[in-house]
Amino acid sequence: MSTSDRIEEIYEQVKARNAGEPEFHQAAAEVFESLHVVLERHPGYFESGLIERLCEPERQIIFRVPWIDDQGNVHVNRGFRVQYNSVLGPYKGGLRFHPSVNLGIVKFLGFEQIFKNALTGLPIGGGKGGSDFDPKGRSEQEIMRFCQSFMTELHRHIGEYTDVPAGDIGVGGREIGYLFGQYKRLTNSYESGVLTGKGLTWGGSQVRKEATGYGAAYFVNEMAKTAGTSLEGRTAVVSGSGNVAIYAIEKIHQLGGTAIACSDSSGYIVDRKGLDVALLKEIKEVRRGRISEYVDERGDAEFFPGGNIWNVPCDVALPCATQNELDEDSAKTLVNNGVKIVAEGANMPTTPGGISVFRDAGVAFAPGKAANAGGVATSALEMQQNASRDSWHFDYTDERLAGIMADIHGRCVETAAEYGKPGDYIHGANIAGFVKVADAMFALGVI
Ligand code: NDP
Repeated sequence: MSTSDRIEEIYEQVKARNAGEPEFHQAAAEVFESLHVVLERHPGYFESGLIERLCEPERQIIFRVPWIDDQGNVHVNRGFRVQYNSVLGPYKGGLRFHPSVNLGIVKFLGFEQIFKNALTGLPIGGGKGGSDFDPKGRSEQEIMRFCQSFMTELHRHIGEYTDVPAGDIGVGGREIGYLFGQYKRLTNSYESGVLTGKGLTWGGSQVRKEATGYGAAYFVNEMAKTAGTSLEGRTAVVSGSGNVAIYAIEKIHQLGGTAIACSDSSGYIVDRKGLDVALLKEIKEVRRGRISEYVDERGDAEFFPGGNIWNVPCDVALPCATQNELDEDSAKTLVNNGVKIVAEGANMPTTPGGISVFRDAGVAFAPGKAANAGGVATSALEMQQNASRDSWHFDYTDERLAGIMADIHGRCVETAAEYGKPGDYIHGANIAGFVKVADAMFALGVI
């Protein structure tokens, strides 16, 4: 059987075993596409059911999360933790609280996380979790009660050497605080290393909050340098206005670029003078408000309710909101408007059709598992600081992050070239991540 046929056969098995999980199929298909060239060259990776084992999570936990709202009504949500692969270290990956969360989404995120974490070069395995709980409009007390109920079950499955969750959509410093508080209470131990993204006075790391966005901007800077240019004077459009988006915008500005547009699920804003990051933080982090409030305070800015942010012409596009937010038509619009670099701050925000458009147009395109790896990398630095009971300064940690992003970029470029796909960051990231995990899986035997 040819390599292509063997890969196709495994992919069909994956789809059949995981029916009704389109995001997971999409994430697997993207990695499988890159594996053709590796498996042609090293067919040994087919042995011992390695690819089949890689696609099957080591453990999937689904649990009930009951909680009581401010009016005394009982709600029941569903909690998930998919512990995907731990050959390189404890499972590591965020928790997402969003009504769209289901097992297939958590599996796609966990699968991506395996390769991303391998790419960082740090000792962390891959996992992901979350709940279909919708934090929007919930009071502080409701959020706390939900987090406590969620952790009441999750605590049995996590630990410093087992599984170390962090934040993702809907889970930031506030939620990590309530989760950590409940873990501490249930276990009667101050196990700092069990969660990352903690507050700075109780075991957190400098730069963790900023890390995913900063890291994506550092990655874009490396891409620009490789293309013989820089971010100086370039315009950027960043979707979302959450944790990743805000700090990507901040670092783009520090690196000489100008971010002119961002969004939330209600629409997007354009501020041609450059987005005011302090105002964005005030609206989103302090007030927990909507992006439309921005134009109330910046007279020249415009709000486009429900519009498509990718209609805004730019040199650099950074999708930083959610999966499949940038489709084929949006990609065509960006290309026609002259986009040069696209880097995924979110996980799998570009559809397969969108990726093809960018590839065909020769746009430099960085997949999330490379461009947004700065968050998990800094989480691993937080674990390192917790283990040594140390805390590093901001500038030092930021330098470490910049160095890690440059290393990941270099690894993608070198691997893509080595496998005959020069300049293709998707193949570079997938292959480099795969080879590292696959070699460790062989070394550890059939487990
Ligand atoms: P946040 O919850 O802080 O922000 C998410 C942003 O995206 C908000 O502006 C939100 O708008 C918007 N958004 C979310 N879902 C949708 C949707 N279905 N349609 C339109 N807009 C949406 O999350 P993060 O910034 O932490 O995460 C953003 C992305 O980055 C995710 O893909 C996540 O997996 C990825 N990521 C995050 C990391 C981290 O360290 N936080 C690490 C690596 C990747 P609204 O508020 O209106 O819903």
